[in-house]
Amino acid sequence: MKTERRGDGGWADVMASEPYMVGPGSEWRSELYRVAVDQFTRAADLLGLEPEVRARLLEPRRALVVNFPVRRDSGEVEIFTGYRVQHTLTMGPMKGGVRYGPGVSMGECAALAMWMTLKCSLLGLPFGGAKGGVRCDPNRLSVAELERLTRRYASEIFPIIGPDSDIPAPDMATGEREMAWFMDTYSQQVGHPVPEIVTGKPLVLGGTEGRDVATGLGVVFVLEDVLRSLRRPVEGLRVVVQGLGNVGAVVVRELAARGARIVGVSDVSGGVVDPDGLDVDAVFTWVAEHDFLRGFPRGEHVDRTAVLEASCDVLVPAAVEHQITAENVEAIDCELVVEAANGPTTPEADLVLARRGIDVVPDVLANAGGVTVSYFEWVQDQQKYSWNGEEIVARLRLQLQEALARVVEARARHGVDWRTAAQSVAIERVAEASRLRTIYP
Ligand code: GLU
Repeated sequence: MKTERRGDGGWADVMASEPYMVGPGSEWRSELYRVAVDQFTRAADLLGLEPEVRARLLEPRRALVVNFPVRRDSGEVEIFTGYRVQHTLTMGPMKGGVRYGPGVSMGECAALAMWMTLKCSLLGLPFGGAKGGVRCDPNRLSVAELERLTRRYASEIFPIIGPDSDIPAPDMATGEREMAWFMDTYSQQVGHPVPEIVTGKPLVLGGTEGRDVATGLGVVFVLEDVLRSLRRPVEGLRVVVQGLGNVGAVVVRELAARGARIVGVSDVSGGVVDPDGLDVDAVFTWVAEHDFLRGFPRGEHVDRTAVLEASCDVLVPAAVEHQITAENVEAIDCELVVEAANGPTTPEADLVLARRGIDVVPDVLANAGGVTVSYFEWVQDQQKYSWNGEEIVARLRLQLQEALARVVEARARHGVDWRTAAQSVAIERVAEASRLRTIYP
């Protein structure tokens, strides 16, 4: 095994070695990082990216691991592990969410940070990517415990974040409430209010109109534009959405309002399928009253992964990563996949979908509406001036349309799939900046 030369990030060596072996890249060893490297390599090969730039983009620039105590309501003290991974410093401050979940790891954050770099680059935002999180089961923590955990995590990563260096945001299991705690903790440390330290804040604390629905709305805008180019109406389109969280719920609501037929939905408790179309108001009322979809009185009940196999025109995975894999890809029964979640499709599944003629609109384009409106929030905070909701939505639509046009152009020029085209556009921009800045000193 090589110990210093990284060429391809050392990744091939790491995968070939025993899990306990140390070597270049082994810090990030995880299934999701493998997926990120595989996708990146495909686009980098297409561009003929030089090894020097390739190696620099393949691995995060910095990562911080923090172990910190939190007092539980019972009085006991528990130690939690958190991360903040910063992928690229070349393009501007770093940007990316904070997630809470039992599977959060350094490798997972590294993959997600790399995708944030690509997403920001594709959208033309002046940011590099970052991602962080705390390994915990948020469903087992009380609100008071979550507040103590969030505040302690924020102060642990305080040395490497800042409005001009790294700006966190919501991700899985975090939202406005956590961002308010985060902003307050950071502001207490520096002695004055710093709203621009995080995005996705409540409106009254310097948040922006539209951030809460931005990711889901962006998915719908991208899908509408793709359908327009295929001369397919949204009206009557049969759609399955996996996940009814912050992103999936907005996609369901917005597409139903545009006349699409929602033939399958799911949440963590399971899925419901109805080829005639679900009454989405009834679904949301049920979930509001019972917390989960389980027990919904209509449709056929399936498990939350099986919902992906329901027959439809457009499949929107909007839950977690690693959902369309070698195991279930042959059973996928749709014409188009639109990735609202980050990393829902494995490279093995990508190949099968391509062979079967099923296009995949990738995460770095489809779900980029969230970070785009985060950028608008950060700009408004810096300017101490708010834009109205209409302006936000119009700018979001335009920014996504321009990114989509760049991807469509790259697809035609290279004759490749959507993902490789999107990643190649993104990588080209970061690589150019990296070459121009050269190596310090
Ligand atoms: N967590 C979101 C994402 O994966 C948004 C990040 C942000 O707004 O900075 O794109």
